[in-house]
Amino acid sequence: MKNTVSFFSSPVITDFSAKKFAFLQFAEIDEIEKIQTRLFLHHLKFTVNNSPFYKKLYKNKNIDLKKIKKLSDIEHLPLTEKSDLIPAKYFLCVDNREIVDVCLTSATSGPIPSMISLTSGDLSRLAYNEELAFDMAGIDDKDTLLICAAIDRCFMAGIAYFLGGVKLKARVLRSGSGSAAQHWELIKLADATVIVGVPSLIYKIGQHAIDNNETPGSTLVKKLIAIGEPTRDEHLNLLPIAVELEKMWGAKIYSTYASSEMATTFCECSARRGGHLRPELNITEILDNNGHPVKEGERGEVVVTPLGVTGMPLIRFKTGDISYLINEKCSCGRTTKRIAPILGRKNQMLKYKGTTIFPNAILACLEGDQRFHNGYIEVRKNKDGTDRILLFAALCSENNDKTWISDILRAKIRVVPEIKLIDKKKADKKVYQFDKKRKRMTFFDLR
Ligand SMILES: [Zn+2]
Repeated sequence: MKNTVSFFSSPVITDFSAKKFAFLQFAEIDEIEKIQTRLFLHHLKFTVNNSPFYKKLYKNKNIDLKKIKKLSDIEHLPLTEKSDLIPAKYFLCVDNREIVDVCLTSATSGPIPSMISLTSGDLSRLAYNEELAFDMAGIDDKDTLLICAAIDRCFMAGIAYFLGGVKLKARVLRSGSGSAAQHWELIKLADATVIVGVPSLIYKIGQHAIDNNETPGSTLVKKLIAIGEPTRDEHLNLLPIAVELEKMWGAKIYSTYASSEMATTFCECSARRGGHLRPELNITEILDNNGHPVKEGERGEVVVTPLGVTGMPLIRFKTGDISYLINEKCSCGRTTKRIAPILGRKNQMLKYKGTTIFPNAILACLEGDQRFHNGYIEVRKNKDGTDRILLFAALCSENNDKTWISDILRAKIRVVPEIKLIDKKKADKKVYQFDKKRKRMTFFDLR
């Protein structure tokens, strides 16, 4: 029998299996800050005292924890990069016997995935995190959730959604990384009411049904929880793919933002105007290129400090994602700030005729358009140091007219890259590498 981590005996941190902090969603700002400060200081002390990585880092940088007293003091603490996480053993804060699950993160920023070790407390924290995220989207114990995210191969997302669904007492279908046909059959067989998955995959499932003369809208599916890809643009307008999905399924789409390292989900509420922050689980900062906090509402890199993690806690982890925070009152009654859609990856930012643009913003203008089948972006370096952006697009019909693509891009993002038409098979082969990666590959950086 494993010992309980002494951390939980602390009067400050709760076992997340109880919803002790759920009330914070609706609390006054002062109350949120007071509790978050306590959780932060506790997290800091626990992490720096137990993590070999942080112990050494803070000693080298002469950081005196006694001087860190309030939330804003976090600005004085060093940032952690994804590359720091290898080897992961230097981040372990508990004895190896306390580790019950090991997750691998997707290797989007390098060839080697990083490894995240979880205690039973971390798993119960994940379950609480996802239970409240589902609850935020109005999902309850009457729902049947089709989870189209792998639960095997050490992926965190699948197990987090599963645990959260179970904790919510919903009925959970572990459809995992099955084919579109398998997901579709299961939706009908078990009367799924919610699909949790990547938007492009939910589209493929619907398209499979339509190709077989069936109607996605005739199922009981009423909610789509979109993971991994954005559903809204920077102004919070639904992207064409999301509009198409809502029409296809006769369902509402809710976006979530999460990653294995942040171990926290920011899910949209009924208002669907950005994902609510989770103060009891995460300190979420937006920083500029120099590591300083941006002014309120400005865009920058999302930096997270996931609170209450005991296996491999992190302090100020740079996600590499670009977004901004929304501080307006939400119509759902929650008082927490919201995070806007992820605009792109910091290292994928493209320089084009004096402006910056993210590759996913280019594709998002076309995805969902009936004429557009699939595509991807390639970027190379011009001799003058600027970026040469190539859009490889496969169209649905044999018609080789691409002027409509330029027109749409010019109107929506004022950027028209070089456009090359390719056939559908070639595009699909390049973009859908589901057996190797969890996400679609739509950006190839050859700079
Ligand atoms: Zn809300």
